[in-house]
Amino acid sequence: MRELNTLTAHELIALLNIGDISPIDICKGVLDAIKNKDAKLNALVHFDENKVFERVNALAKKDGTKALWGIPIFIKDNICVRDELTTCSSKILDGFCPPYNATVIDKLSQNGAVLMGKTNMDEFAFGSSTETSCYGTTRNPWDLERIPGGSSGGAAACVAADEAIFALGSDTGGSIRQPASLCGVVGLKPTYGRVSRYGLIAFASSLDQIGPVTKDVEDAALLLKVISGHDSMDSTSVNKPVPDYPSLIKRDVKALKIGIPRQYFIEGLDAEVKDSMREAIKRIEDMGCVCEDMDLPHTEFAVSVYYLVATAEASSNLARFDGVQYGLRSKQAKSFIDMYKKTRQIGFGDEAKRRIILGTFALSSGYYDAYYLRALKVRTLIKRDFEDAFKEFDAIITPTSPTPAFRIGEKTQDPLTMYLSDIFTISANLAGIPGVSVPCGFTRDNLPIGLQILGSPFDEETILRIAYNYEQNTDWHKKRPKI
Ligand code: GLN
Repeated sequence: MRELNTLTAHELIALLNIGDISPIDICKGVLDAIKNKDAKLNALVHFDENKVFERVNALAKKDGTKALWGIPIFIKDNICVRDELTTCSSKILDGFCPPYNATVIDKLSQNGAVLMGKTNMDEFAFGSSTETSCYGTTRNPWDLERIPGGSSGGAAACVAADEAIFALGSDTGGSIRQPASLCGVVGLKPTYGRVSRYGLIAFASSLDQIGPVTKDVEDAALLLKVISGHDSMDSTSVNKPVPDYPSLIKRDVKALKIGIPRQYFIEGLDAEVKDSMREAIKRIEDMGCVCEDMDLPHTEFAVSVYYLVATAEASSNLARFDGVQYGLRSKQAKSFIDMYKKTRQIGFGDEAKRRIILGTFALSSGYYDAYYLRALKVRTLIKRDFEDAFKEFDAIITPTSPTPAFRIGEKTQDPLTMYLSDIFTISANLAGIPGVSVPCGFTRDNLPIGLQILGSPFDEETILRIAYNYEQNTDWHKKRPKI
């Protein structure tokens, strides 16, 4: 039998159901993998083996109503877990243990999942490479000299390296899909409002969503079903029934109409990524879908709009980290105001400071209309592009990232090039629509390539169905890095 840490959640659930294995066996398998690999990867940040065993031992008896009973899960470090370190990989939250659980954590626990620990990320989810973490860079398991993507780089790397069965990440501009693509795993950003954000430490509140990082599409469907649904603690979560994704995605995709936006085949798109896309399109046509070129005319403005809206919201959300309520407090300060200043000076990294300055500028009187308000108007145009497209198409496919994983340090000196790594993912956040990235090939250097499937609001089922059928017709998701 394959080692348990290499299996998916649905495969493990099948083994648990016939009584072949126990939750302790699974955790031991995962813990061994962590011991062998994480010193090289640095994917995990807060993790305590003894607590993991306590949690497994405290599991209630097996109960068929608990969808994830006995399955271990890792959580991105910006999702609150009661009495556990939750630091957003930032020095300013040093030592912070929230007094409450995020709603997704309660849902996981109610469904019998075993919380393992926290995964590394870009500081406050600001980044595309996991290089801005105060705990150091996470490495890509396919090539340790390369970044795993970001900001949920720790989550994607630990799942790809079989140090985890699956994980939860967060996606504000691509932070689940882009690292999933660069690490060769599946990453899903749900529709805005599908999953409660209560307990997710906010980056940009109108863009953030929590979502699954998994080894295959079926696990993404399983996890999405568990974490979705209305929550009275998050007024932006939407009260719509949660479909039974794991069974619905297995239906066929015949005659679905899929759009291929011309605006995504830009200069700078890596040739091997382009070739893999072409092959994926052919494969999807062979599955019975009809693929057609189409336009999303305002795509070229997405990066600019995103970096105005996201930094504006971030500058406001980060105002609460002042040394009074959470985490770090400077001991050098001579006065109250000095304490704010010194705490923020030593607590935030360069990228966080850059975003606070950019966002504060865009919101300041005199510039608000010219930048922030204008960005909101263009955001509406981007959203309308998708509304129009989904009148005609069931889904849209694009590459997830314009390039495969780049080298550590390659883009850190030039924030603008780094910002362009999200060029294909951020529109979905601006429009609030769901998107999934699935493995669709490898470069000659053996680096994974991802395919992005976008859908209309609350139609995760269709994009997961296309992704599932595609996966059944390919083997890309089965390849694993040798580490
Ligand atoms: N890379 C993007 C940024 O730096 C998106 C990050 C995210 O989705 N959290 O803002």
